[in-house]
Amino acid sequence: MRKDGAMIYLDYAATAPMHREAAAEMVPYFTEVFGNPSSGHRAGMQAKKALESARKEIAKTILARPEEIYFTGSGTEADNWVLQRIPALSQRRDAHIITTKIEHHAVLSAAKELERRGNRVTYLSPDGEGLISPREVEKAITNDTVLISVMAANNEIGTVEPIREIAALSKERGILFHTDAVQAYGKLPLSVEDGGIAFLSASAHKIGGPKGVGFLYVRRDVPLTPLLFGGAQERGKRGSTENVPGIVGFAKAAQITFSEAKAEKEREKALRDAFISRVLTEIPDVVLTGAREERLCNHASFAFSFVEGETLLILLGAKGICASSGSACTSGQEEPSHVLSALSLPEEFVRGGIRFSFGTETKKEQLDFVVECLKEAVARIRAMTPFYENAKRGKTT
Ligand code: PLP
Repeated sequence: MRKDGAMIYLDYAATAPMHREAAAEMVPYFTEVFGNPSSGHRAGMQAKKALESARKEIAKTILARPEEIYFTGSGTEADNWVLQRIPALSQRRDAHIITTKIEHHAVLSAAKELERRGNRVTYLSPDGEGLISPREVEKAITNDTVLISVMAANNEIGTVEPIREIAALSKERGILFHTDAVQAYGKLPLSVEDGGIAFLSASAHKIGGPKGVGFLYVRRDVPLTPLLFGGAQERGKRGSTENVPGIVGFAKAAQITFSEAKAEKEREKALRDAFISRVLTEIPDVVLTGAREERLCNHASFAFSFVEGETLLILLGAKGICASSGSACTSGQEEPSHVLSALSLPEEFVRGGIRFSFGTETKKEQLDFVVECLKEAVARIRAMTPFYENAKRGKTT
């Protein structure tokens, strides 16, 4: 534990602490401006004004039009909306979609459900750095392909995918392209201006906004069936009273994130590079998982041979360090991560994955402390098993 007993939070990819200004911005919308945006009276109109102004703010961040932004209850909901409600998919059982083996479960599980209903799904494999090749996407296209869904950046390994090229080829072939941008939003420039992206999902809590709010961008010419049948909210596509405080908090967090983006990204990138370099040089038998160059600015992930990621997390946790062995939704599972499995890592590394993700509160001294703790913890775990020493001596086990 650090002498001051402080927690070191390095799991921004799971969720980020809320920007204080965003939290403060929400408060009046619980109490004073409490109206239902669908009500025609003054209280309702005040709430409606805040809602539409938030929509404009969010639209600006991806160069969309406000009417192309649909607020949702999460990134998961936005992903599911696309996979479950494209008319061509539900009307034609032979319709085909292309996605990847390393998507978040919000996309993967929805794709499995489509398969269960009879649609055909191709799951593309990444290369060793987690990159999806646009050529492989192109090769997988058939006459029945109606949707291509490739994430903008991976949550477990930080790899940034070539979505511009994939969007361009989808557009050329007249196929709808969806990108799950939950991890990339606020960290990478994302623009829908050239029309290659038909759908884009994002989530507030990854950028210092509240939990339980997201959005789905839907290109204005694209048909999408309502997600929730009910009222006329979200232009009749998602019935239910809008989460006005959450949406206001999301817009404020986006405003802060996008205005500080460049300087903060450079700062995080420098921290990331120094941290990666120390871990790779000071600890034996470790690999960086994901791409070295095409990587989120705040993301460092590794796999240590003959080490269980979960055990490593417990030892780091005892020192006050919060990291993750995979996505927040899958850590704690017995199975090795589907993302690390797809990278074709040698078997002794697959269970040793760990992810550190940084944000506005991350400092160099914290990362220096983490390197020291990592060295100690990895050595301790390896000392408890004969497998590591045997492998070093070239013995099979
Ligand atoms: N997609 C990706 C890539 C994510 O990393 C996450 C969350 O970790 C989600 C989707 C789900 O977002 P939410 O937590 O808003 O449902």
